[in-house]
Amino acid sequence: MLGERYKYDGRPVVDLTPVQQMVKRQIEDKLDSGRYKTEKVLCAVCGGSSFETLSQKDRFGLPLSAVICRDCGLVQTNPRLDGRSLEEFYHEEFIRMDLSRQKPGREQFVDQYFHGQKIFSYLKAIGILPPKGSFILEVGCSAGGILAFFRDKGYEVSGLDLDEESVRFGVREYRLDLRAGTLAGCSFEKDPDLIIMSHVLEHLSDPNSELSRVRSLLGEKALLYVEVPGIHNLFFNFYDLDFLGYLRITHNYCFSRTTLSNLLLKNGFEVQSIDNRISAICRKGGKNISFQNDYKTAMGYLCRLEVLKKFAFVTPFKIRRFIEGVVCGASKKIGLYGFARSVYRKIINRVEPGQDREQNSDDRQ
Ligand SMILES: [Zn+2]
Repeated sequence: MLGERYKYDGRPVVDLTPVQQMVKRQIEDKLDSGRYKTEKVLCAVCGGSSFETLSQKDRFGLPLSAVICRDCGLVQTNPRLDGRSLEEFYHEEFIRMDLSRQKPGREQFVDQYFHGQKIFSYLKAIGILPPKGSFILEVGCSAGGILAFFRDKGYEVSGLDLDEESVRFGVREYRLDLRAGTLAGCSFEKDPDLIIMSHVLEHLSDPNSELSRVRSLLGEKALLYVEVPGIHNLFFNFYDLDFLGYLRITHNYCFSRTTLSNLLLKNGFEVQSIDNRISAICRKGGKNISFQNDYKTAMGYLCRLEVLKKFAFVTPFKIRRFIEGVVCGASKKIGLYGFARSVYRKIINRVEPGQDREQNSDDRQ
């Protein structure tokens, strides 16, 4: 365990809205009554069963353990909700618990749209942006804001998501080609030139099967863009050095650059680019069953983070929030808030691409 505060006591480490408190009680009741069952699983990367417990609860105070695999260093929720429970959770509680929102709306869509801009800029910056007219498929597209940005840039786009309400919203309000379902149940007339999986892999029970399906859709020159929230990226954003605040029931996996690379290599992808944020660009490659063990690096980092959290009174996030407050107040006074916000977004995109989407979600809690 990483410390006393990681022991299960039912208490959340973030402020919960009344909606979240109600949903938390609902989940706890289902766990107590046995309606929600948990299962122990082998490591998704190395198949190992030797785990060390990091935490007995998540940020909401729910009794789900985070463990690290001693053989490859992958951090994961284990035991976790079993397949049937997870399906019901995503249907009934996910959006209200994780995003503190009742229904998909314009605000969520705009966040996604700006996120699409960041992915576009990232691909352009590393010189592998597909040409206009290419077909882009997003797996886990929600209401389709990311795809809307690419459509506005001249791409042909389609998306899939299990959340029927978000899909209906994107189709109805923005006339996007979105479908409710999974890759396993859908087919497309064209092969995608780029598949986007943004904040999807960490939620899946079986990322290997999903990556295998993704791989089967990719041609030799096509690209896969994967983005997940990285455990090494807790300094500058709203997690504010708090690994416990980062853990959540909705994440079956918590990746580092190394463990995500291991998973992608295992599933036959050649990683072209990856960073600690974490955004990765891959192409189809040969399967690689050897992997790098991230256990010592991850444990060393998480232990150092705990010490830093205890003693650092001025953190990068607190400085950022202070500057935001000053700039926001001043720009509102002189009537330039909209301009200041767009400049700020551009700066943040450069400093910390890949995190603004979750940042915005959390800000609403
Ligand atoms: Zn492992």
